Amino acid sequence: MADKLSNPRGTADILPNETPAWRFLEKTACELFRVYGYREIRTPIFEEVSLFKRSLGETTEVVNKQLLEVRSQRADAEDASFALRPEGTAPVVRVYNQNGLERAEGLSKLFYIGPMFRGERPQKGRLRQFHQIGAEAIGYQGDNPLLDVEMIALASRLLTAFGVNGFKLKVNSLGTAEDKAGFAQWLRAELKGKIGHLSEECKNQYERNVFRLLDSKDKDCQEVIRSLNIGTAHLSERGLKYFEAVKKGLDQLGIAYEVSNQLVRGLDYYTHTVFEISYEGLGAQDALGAGGRYNCLIEQLGGGDKRMDQPVAAIGFAFGIERILLALKDQGKLSDVKPSIDAYLVSFDRGFEDNAFQLVNTLRQEGISADMDFGGRAAKQQFTQADKRGAKFVLILGEEEVKNGAVSVKDMVTGNQVTVPLNNVVKQLKLMIEKGSI
Ligand code: AMP
Repeated sequence: MADKLSNPRGTADILPNETPAWRFLEKTACELFRVYGYREIRTPIFEEVSLFKRSLGETTEVVNKQLLEVRSQRADAEDASFALRPEGTAPVVRVYNQNGLERAEGLSKLFYIGPMFRGERPQKGRLRQFHQIGAEAIGYQGDNPLLDVEMIALASRLLTAFGVNGFKLKVNSLGTAEDKAGFAQWLRAELKGKIGHLSEECKNQYERNVFRLLDSKDKDCQEVIRSLNIGTAHLSERGLKYFEAVKKGLDQLGIAYEVSNQLVRGLDYYTHTVFEISYEGLGAQDALGAGGRYNCLIEQLGGGDKRMDQPVAAIGFAFGIERILLALKDQGKLSDVKPSIDAYLVSFDRGFEDNAFQLVNTLRQEGISADMDFGGRAAKQQFTQADKRGAKFVLILGEEEVKNGAVSVKDMVTGNQVTVPLNNVVKQLKLMIEKGSI
């Protein structure tokens, strides 16, 4: 026999007993986004590599090590190299700029749901293809701490609507772009004499992207960072005022949070507010989602209008769907969804297959979910099939029934059975389905 093939490492098939939970999350998210005035956007799953280099930063892990590049086999392929999208913000900003949305809308409130790709070492909660639900608010009106509050509130309400309890929200501020640059400088100076005994990886990060050291998993590094006494000293008056306004807004909405001075986020484009929502029960990969403000990215990617006296500002977040499902599972809220169907046809004679097929199609046209055996099985096995398919009612076509232009309906829970004329079966069956029994 030929070998069976498996899915690529770091990907997961979503089986039919799991898809209802995915649909539930997607539907719940769409509904809540509507309530908050967000509209859906869909972008290609691959983009030019340069988009990610220019936005996420050349020194970030996502770009440096994890981009999954796509190459065409065609000899005359265009020169541009492509990568599967590792995240949603940069593509959304590209679309925003490309379509001049800043002219069309004062504030563009957009959301997306879809697969993302990162060439990571797979482990629990960390995949190479995973899915995100994300939102972005971009526009000239976008520079308002109330929008940061709205984003965080929306993220928190989404989790509650999904049924996730006990999640933890951490917030921090990186300040303005200048504050952030100053913060990086301060960090470098403070760490200079202390990194000698750290790992090569940490030394590398010190050189390339010093912020990464703040949420390093390396024990020695964590100790060094703890000794630094990081506060809000890097924030300018404007940076501080902005952060105070965000915290005040969160307090007013009654949203619980913790200020974490070590929270920085891995991507280059963040300024001001950054936040992360985690769930302890997930182990090492405990982040359900994260986000932040990225006021400089739109111009960095060629957008905005030089004639305007203010930049296009933006904030967004993204949740990992797989992690949300893991959290729901941890809380015992994910049940295996068994198949279920309203009616299953059982024919006592292969010769009645045509009658069964006609009836199944009549029922389906009336919106009743119905199916039948296509394998020529004996009646007893057809009943087993009905059971496996989770049929509420079995419709029996025996000799008597066919002769009398009727069908017998058996309630699979109570075992009760009645015979109904064919011309009345739709009406009767609908009543039974509504009642849940004969
Ligand atoms: P990030 O853009 O890295 O902040 O990702 C936002 C969210 O996406 C994270 O909090 C995770 O929930 C999810 N996520 C990111 N990377 C992965 C991955 N490799 N596998 C599964 N989920 C991920």
